[in-house]
Amino acid sequence: MDYRKRMESLVRELLRHQQLYHVLARPEIPDAEYDRLLDELLLLEKRFPQFAGANSPSRRVGSDLDNTFPERPHTVPVLSLNKLYQPQELGQWLLKTEAAAGCGVGFAIEEKIDGASIVLYYDQGELQYALTRGNGLLGNDVSDNVRTISQVPLRIAESSRLAVRGEIYIKRDDFERYNSGVAEKYVNPRNLAAGSLRNLKSVQTARVPLNIFVYEGFFANEFSRDHLEILQRLRELGFRVNPRLGFFCDDKGKRLRAQHLFPGISAAPVAAVEEYLRRQAASRADVPYDIDGLVVKVVELAVRQELGTTAHHPRWAMAYKFESPQARTLLLDVQIQVGRNGRVTPVALLKPVAISGSTVTRATLHNQDYIDMLELNVGDEVSISRRGDVIPAVEEVLEKSEQHPGIFQLPGSCPFCSTLLVKEGAHHFCKNQACPERRRRALNYFCAREQMDIETLGEKTIAFLFAKGWVQSIPDIYSFDYGLLAGQEGFREKKIVRIRAGVEASKSRPFVRVLAALGCEGVAAAVAADLIAHGFDDIDKIIAAAKKNDWEIFAAIEGIGETTARLLISHFSKPENLRLIDSLKTAGLKFVGEKTGGDMVNDSFAGQIWVITGSFVQFNPRALAAAAIEKRGGRVTENVSARTTHLLAGSHPGSKLAKAEKIGCKIIRENEFIALLGAL
Ligand SMILES: [Zn+2]
Repeated sequence: MDYRKRMESLVRELLRHQQLYHVLARPEIPDAEYDRLLDELLLLEKRFPQFAGANSPSRRVGSDLDNTFPERPHTVPVLSLNKLYQPQELGQWLLKTEAAAGCGVGFAIEEKIDGASIVLYYDQGELQYALTRGNGLLGNDVSDNVRTISQVPLRIAESSRLAVRGEIYIKRDDFERYNSGVAEKYVNPRNLAAGSLRNLKSVQTARVPLNIFVYEGFFANEFSRDHLEILQRLRELGFRVNPRLGFFCDDKGKRLRAQHLFPGISAAPVAAVEEYLRRQAASRADVPYDIDGLVVKVVELAVRQELGTTAHHPRWAMAYKFESPQARTLLLDVQIQVGRNGRVTPVALLKPVAISGSTVTRATLHNQDYIDMLELNVGDEVSISRRGDVIPAVEEVLEKSEQHPGIFQLPGSCPFCSTLLVKEGAHHFCKNQACPERRRRALNYFCAREQMDIETLGEKTIAFLFAKGWVQSIPDIYSFDYGLLAGQEGFREKKIVRIRAGVEASKSRPFVRVLAALGCEGVAAAVAADLIAHGFDDIDKIIAAAKKNDWEIFAAIEGIGETTARLLISHFSKPENLRLIDSLKTAGLKFVGEKTGGDMVNDSFAGQIWVITGSFVQFNPRALAAAAIEKRGGRVTENVSARTTHLLAGSHPGSKLAKAEKIGCKIIRENEFIALLGAL
């Protein structure tokens, strides 16, 4: 057998089926048949790695090897767009452009998807590499991660060189699902999409439900002089083109042609654009992904050529943004913060700017992924908003700095203890337990209002005590002789008395506060209260449960998911955390909660493990159904597993129902459930 030929034929077959499945949603063979072909290819690639191509469908599953993201120059123009915020302004721009280009010029209007920009480069029918936008001249090569996206064609039926611009994005519900399963939450779908492109291991990217829409094609053989024809050709080649497309032109013939190319396209005279913008803005929540505006483009390539570009933007295209920026300012520097759990947070230090009555000087940048997504660096002009009128956020780069062309990078090691930083999920961490900054922050957290509420030990006082070496860890708060403060600048007798009283008073704080103050990740006041209400009303019960190393014990509590359950086990198993608890017990803190009345109905559900999904009429919120099960001795867990015995399915049950059917557990509808409860 000619193995090389067989491999080549498998690659062709598999790529064709991937295209049918992921782009056209029209599979021709069952999944099992597809898996069989893929297994055969994987086996052959293992035996004959020399024949395994860069665009083999096996690349979809990603690799465990560390990626590097070398910079490469863009060979096609990747300019950013000028932006407008009012429909009337855009109307004026259309008039101006028509006046410059001549009446009868056509405008395409596409959705501006909130994702990560990408440029795909093809040659001789193969994907050569995929670059981020970068600064428009140089982008980062993220090919191996992009190859895992099933909707990106790895091979195309076009032998001449081709560059394709597109947007990689995540649907909102996919984002919610993905985010609920990871410990370190992503800020928004755009942040996750951009971060996924820069995962060190492509096997991680393969797990993220990424999508792509392409919106611009640069063919080496200039087969067309028109943007709509280019989109049509891209579609034929197997790229996903967003069908939500508008075409506005005063030439009726061109409108008819557009409708012929894209059946279903909104085609109308230019005067109808403003109305179209308003309608699209109003219906943005109806599409399953985030859009932050629309892009208006001249379709005739000759007109584009004629209009040309400014230094930064093409004159033939304009972005219409749904929301106006609140302020424009300069990024002066990035400060690196290290939290009590070691998480590194970059903070933007901004040239002071007024937004809705107050001055903003700082804004969190969350993590490296967020900075990468913004393609941000010191010296850039940025737009700032206040999300929900409270937290200031850097929304986008308006103008790149000339001096700092690249993207800001977090330092390789902790600025406070020089330990090498480690990346986990979207964040970097200082893993040094003894890191002075982490310890100082842990003290602040312990004393803060939401936890032990020791008002007299504010951040300043703690910083002073910490720097002196007097209070270095939480038990020191209770063992330090505050009398030693006498004579220190700013510590009069009266203040020392108040500090002593504050520390003493904290010993009578209820268990729920002590539990939150211990600093277990994911366990703030609300979760601490849930734990106590569900029988974990004594620290020893929590420690004993953690010892069993079964996360479902904690996840059985409504409001506690698998992630938090696992964090609880890990926190309450670590010797250093148990030592802290012991010394705080000795200091006299409360580690037992007030008893809550057990109101069991009976034990008719004993031994049953339930999962609840969908929405209900009688049991709204769902916690009511969970309570009904628990009062009868059953347990409620978050996810369907082999141990699940019952699934309570309401309307719109989602993927849990399919999973429950697969494993064959009992599926109970709301009326049956009511009957079950009533009969008992
Ligand atoms: Zn450190």
